[in-house]
Amino acid sequence: MTATPLNSARQVDHHALYRALVLEHARSPRNFGLLENASHRAEGINPLCGDKLELAFRIDDLGRIVDATFEGTGCAISVASASILTEAVAGLSVAEAHALFTHFQALLDDGPDTGASDLAEPLLALAGVRQFPSRIKCATLAWHAMLGATEDTGNAPVTTE
Ligand code: ZN
Repeated sequence: MTATPLNSARQVDHHALYRALVLEHARSPRNFGLLENASHRAEGINPLCGDKLELAFRIDDLGRIVDATFEGTGCAISVASASILTEAVAGLSVAEAHALFTHFQALLDDGPDTGASDLAEPLLALAGVRQFPSRIKCATLAWHAMLGATEDTGNAPVTTE
């Protein structure tokens, strides 16, 4: 027998968690709407899927993200990812938010057992999108927009293409 029941079970759980989380956040996205007094914003466009999101942040004088919101339209994965992002980066410094994206990206590239599992559960679950490689750009769109908003790029729209 070459089956590895433990790994298979964990895989199934991970997929189920991913689906449930994406659906839940897509149905009732957190921090969806206009941010009054935003200090940083950027638009993210994923032409392959038609996702178009605008991320807005209020960053204080110490470089800490005080508020994060998003608006726009997109598929369930892009909306869920943006929703999770706005919760995940609130309270972080810009540098910490960038590091979080680096970890999340590594998880998408390498899988769940690469030592990046100190990430919060929603991000671990969201990384389940890597079973659908064509949708990874949907899951990272908001994160690229976050980078665009918080790096000094002149607020040009961020596109995945
Ligand atoms: Zn999409």
